[in-house]
Amino acid sequence: MIDCIFCKIVAGAIPSKKVYEDDHLFAFHDIQPAAPVHVLIIPKVHVASLADCNASHLEDLGRILLAAPNIAAESGLTDGFRTIINTGKGGGQEVFHIHAHILGGAQLRPLVDCVASA
Ligand code: AMP
Ligand code: ZN
Repeated sequence: MIDCIFCKIVAGAIPSKKVYEDDHLFAFHDIQPAAPVHVLIIPKVHVASLADCNASHLEDLGRILLAAPNIAAESGLTDGFRTIINTGKGGGQEVFHIHAHILGGAQLRPLVDCVASA
């Protein structure tokens, strides 16, 4: 049995503010929102991070991305949203059950700025 806070949320052993659930996915409000709307989408099957995924996780990864716009819209994000998957300690991951952050509800700052200005 993995001691995982998000597995416990899926099992209902730890309370959460659920926004979506199906046979494969669970989505809930982040406890420390970084934007007016901050939802986490997780697979029900435990996998620690993107770096731990293999071909057996292909469908769950696709399900997360396909569900994201619907969950965002149901959460009131009709004007767009940001999707973030932190991977590993160096990537800022704190909970090691893979999750996609869905952020929005305000104009978000540019996160990646790769193009040098003239
Ligand atoms: P990350 O840094 O990408 O691993 O994100 C983990 C996220 O989980 C953080 O934004 C936390 O605020 C959030 N979090 C941790 N515990 C809970 C919880 N019990 N319920 C909801 N969100 C949580
Ligand atoms: Zn887990």
